[in-house]
Amino acid sequence: MFENAPKPAEIKAYLDQYVIGQDRAKKVLSVAVYNHYKRLQHNLIDRVSEDDVELEKSNILLVGPTGTGKTLLARTIARMLAVPFTIVDATVLTEAGYVGEDVESLLTRLLQEADYNVPLAECGIVFIDEIDKIARKSDNPSITRDVSGEGVQQGLLKLLEGSVVNVPPQGGRKHPEQEFIHVNTQNILFICGGAFEGIERHIALRKNTQIIGFNAEEKERISKDNLLEYVEASDLRAYGLIPEIVGRLPVVTYLDQLDRDSLKRILTEPKNALLRQYKKMFELDGMKLVIDPEVLDIIVDTSIKNKLGARGLRSICEKIMADALFEAPSSGKKTFRLTAAYARKRL
Ligand code: ADP
Repeated sequence: MFENAPKPAEIKAYLDQYVIGQDRAKKVLSVAVYNHYKRLQHNLIDRVSEDDVELEKSNILLVGPTGTGKTLLARTIARMLAVPFTIVDATVLTEAGYVGEDVESLLTRLLQEADYNVPLAECGIVFIDEIDKIARKSDNPSITRDVSGEGVQQGLLKLLEGSVVNVPPQGGRKHPEQEFIHVNTQNILFICGGAFEGIERHIALRKNTQIIGFNAEEKERISKDNLLEYVEASDLRAYGLIPEIVGRLPVVTYLDQLDRDSLKRILTEPKNALLRQYKKMFELDGMKLVIDPEVLDIIVDTSIKNKLGARGLRSICEKIMADALFEAPSSGKKTFRLTAAYARKRL
């Protein structure tokens, strides 16, 4: 079943079509997914003998500012996978008994993706977004119970470690005979993502350098911009993840803040790039949309000014295009030219 798994280079090439930059993260993810297939093949299907080497999984942590493509990477990988895949948000989780969702509910979605085929779900991949939001808030672990922090991490640990958990089937089809579905998480791959805002402080401290240090050059040219590159387990602990969780996320990689050039490329290059989508929309009305190059700069500059990164691009484009989208279809013209002056007036 998994022999024809795509090779890491093939997975990366696929990601390249949709995600700009982030080469390191793409490579790490490609290898992880490929190894996931190999592990399934080896552990579940070949099973040569009992004392053969059992391949353990390596869950992954993606650290990077918001809007740099963590979720996009996960979604894009999901599209090319032959195993069930789901994206869940850690912020909805609370410790059992409190308002919110139990940690086990993470697997409900995976079960749904697998059409409640449990063995299939047990080969799946779960992307847990915003894992940084369940970090312990204070350094003192025992003052009060930390509803959204440590308790949730303890619960999550159970899943990451690999154990049989009781999953509530609710939310989808009814299962009258059983209250819970037992799911073994041993072969489920977990990919976690988070912005870890402010973690640079911990990295800088550890690196014994100042964030915007005067002596930054001599100290390995570490600057505020590339500090994340050096993120490691101890920084995550300092940030408030419990050591056991950190230990279960052995592969840590980072995403770069998107610069001007990347933002510009995001507008035009990916297969479903924003500006391509607008062009397509006009095309469906039998019109040609011509965009002056300067407009790209205006969009990118506005996005940088708003500090929204790639996340802001869409709403800026919508603002610029709103009138055109309204008027163009009934204008009787064959071409609509989007000029810099037109764009500026709309912002
Ligand atoms: P994150 O999960 O890191 O906060 P997202 O993946 O949700 O960010 O990114 C938000 C949107 O910005 C995406 O839907 C995508 O359109 C765009 N985007 C972000 N990073 C990239 C990238 N590296 N390449 C292409 N598009 C990107």
